[in-house]
Amino acid sequence: MEIKKLEPKEKKGLILVITGNGKGKTTSAMGMALRASGHGMKVDIIQFMKGDLYSGEWDGVKRLDGLVELVSTGKGFCGIEGNPYPHSEHRINAQDAVKLVKEKIRSGRAQILILDEINNALKLKLIDLDQVMEILDMKPPHLHMILTGRDAHPDVIQRADTVSEVREIKHAYEKEIEPQPGIDY
Ligand code: ATP
Ligand code: MG
Repeated sequence: MEIKKLEPKEKKGLILVITGNGKGKTTSAMGMALRASGHGMKVDIIQFMKGDLYSGEWDGVKRLDGLVELVSTGKGFCGIEGNPYPHSEHRINAQDAVKLVKEKIRSGRAQILILDEINNALKLKLIDLDQVMEILDMKPPHLHMILTGRDAHPDVIQRADTVSEVREIKHAYEKEIEPQPGIDY
């Protein structure tokens, strides 16, 4: 059987938002990174807030021929039980992440930029709406941007081309099943 490969008449960089309270937002973005690597596309991933707990994608992306680069900028989820860092410290980290995002956009290395948990960072006031809008305004026409995290801001949703809400039906966590490697982290 002959395998066809579609080629869009016009290539256009999209803004995607993956939000909602169910499991699958970050992994959906990682799935697009995996898919893009098959096309030889370069991907930059900036993770807001994450950085205190190991997750498989940190090393997983290194197996993709250097196409996908990931930087984790944070100290875990601000305000949740057991996280010892004050809001001010999380905010400094998130502000550094914004600077890094701008550098990545200016570098022009990647065709896809994933801003993982940026919606949460905005919701928690670690960054400001103006800053997210400025990042979206900086988007070159051919760059795709993927913004993940719960509670996406309505203005960001309005601005995006594709928005998906992952709704929780159930989660193993409720049965007190511990997070599992490869699935949860
Ligand atoms: P994933 O990284 O697995 O795609 P996610 O990005 O949709 O999850 P986050 O809010 O970033 O969701 O949470 C990350 C971690 O928390 C994952 O280990 C995930 O399994 C877990 N998680 C996600 N949703 C829930 C939930 N509703 N209840 C408990 N744990 C959850
Ligand atoms: Mg996530």
